[in-house]
Amino acid sequence: MFNLEELEKVKQKALEEHIPIVMDDTLEEIKKILEREKPQRILEIGTAVGYSASQFIRFAPKAIVDTIELDEQRAKEATQNVKKIGIEDKVNILIGNAVEILPSLQSEYDMIFIDANKGKYPFFLQEGIRLVKNNGWIIADNILYKGYVMSDYNKHKQRTAVRHLREYIQMAQENEILETQILEVGDGLAISRVKKD
Ligand code: SAM
Repeated sequence: MFNLEELEKVKQKALEEHIPIVMDDTLEEIKKILEREKPQRILEIGTAVGYSASQFIRFAPKAIVDTIELDEQRAKEATQNVKKIGIEDKVNILIGNAVEILPSLQSEYDMIFIDANKGKYPFFLQEGIRLVKNNGWIIADNILYKGYVMSDYNKHKQRTAVRHLREYIQMAQENEILETQILEVGDGLAISRVKKD
């Protein structure tokens, strides 16, 4: 049984501890895709404490989520959280750097959610295209990065992330197998439909 009360506790604790989790309006958009497309296999890059992975199972109860997290402490907390929510048999937490783990995975995902270090977004998209099935979805959060991506002036601190996010958007718009929409919800959401044939 999916324990919604425990999921709400996970959300509140993450917010109190300033752990960046998917925003409500962003989740609303992802929920529409999950309920309509009913993905069976989902890959997430950036687990944090398992909040979004749990929401994916809530809205696509038949799915299995593989989710990658670099930070061992967060991965440990995510493991405890999915257990409390009652979905430990549906969420596989892979601990390590996605840059190293992704090349070892096989193409079998209906949906890929990118929510990790912005500097690697172009690489995550490239790997996402390889790993997603025909007619699948690649969704990337924080794509507009607090508006910096659309702004002409960016502080030195944000410049590298902005460059990589702009590169992601360009790749997503120019690759002819992708049909990409950029939504101004939350911190910006890129949704790409993948047509491989
Ligand atoms: N998706 C989560 C949610 O909405 O509940 C939030 C993820 S949080 C924005 C980003 C997470 O990605 C952090 O916990 C961070 O440790 C992890 N991360 C950053 N770079 C990573 C990488 N290269 N490989 C795996 N995880 C990474």
